[in-house]
Amino acid sequence: MRCLDAHVHCGIYDRSKLWAFDDYLPHVEGTPITGAVLLAFPDQIYDRWDPNFKDTHEWRMRRKSANKYLLTLRAENFTVFPFFFIWNDFAWEDITPEYWGVKWHRHANEPVYNYDDPRCRQVIQKIRELNLPVLFEDDLPNTVRFIRELATDVTVIIPHMGFLNGGYRNILDQGLFQQPNVYTDTSLASFGEIMDYVQRYGEERILFGSDFPFGDPAKELDKVLRLPIPREKQEAIAGLNLLRLMSRVKRA
Ligand SMILES: [Zn+2]
Repeated sequence: MRCLDAHVHCGIYDRSKLWAFDDYLPHVEGTPITGAVLLAFPDQIYDRWDPNFKDTHEWRMRRKSANKYLLTLRAENFTVFPFFFIWNDFAWEDITPEYWGVKWHRHANEPVYNYDDPRCRQVIQKIRELNLPVLFEDDLPNTVRFIRELATDVTVIIPHMGFLNGGYRNILDQGLFQQPNVYTDTSLASFGEIMDYVQRYGEERILFGSDFPFGDPAKELDKVLRLPIPREKQEAIAGLNLLRLMSRVKRA
């Protein structure tokens, strides 16, 4: 079985801790995981602890290098799909053809994206043209607005089955999971939630992810492989669905 991890953070963001690509690889040794979506850490992109954070040149440079770091990562018999982490400057000019998707991330009490900025529309337009999936994390009202108003017909992946986008139940109640362009990843979700999702919506728009280093790849994959569903459905979740999304990305 070919397994691809749709949610892996890699970067050097804290002098006391290195979570580089080389820290991830030992965790997938001996597992069927042979590829991953790579993302920078939010801590490298903006000051998470200051809700009134004002962007600076220094932060802009930090973001650039965190995103570029991902492009240097390679390993034998392992496929990497770097995603570009977009922040409030909506630096769409930096989304070069080496990126396979976009990471959008904010938690409550963190500095907000200015969704009304004309550059926000521009970045969404670029995402649409290249058919890049967006791993989208923000609070519930912004998630609903992004999917229903701003980024209609864009492929959106809601990470952790909605855990940090207002919760699984709320995303379900809003009817977002049933939209054909809305995907989700299994990282840090409970086995019960994954099972509930698959029973309601099937296995075509759900991707295995670990959220390394916050989740352990082998343990997270185990939840998918324990699902009481046919093997080809497990294979879809474990890697084929991600591969299908990646095959739809248009190269500029
Ligand atoms: Zn994450």
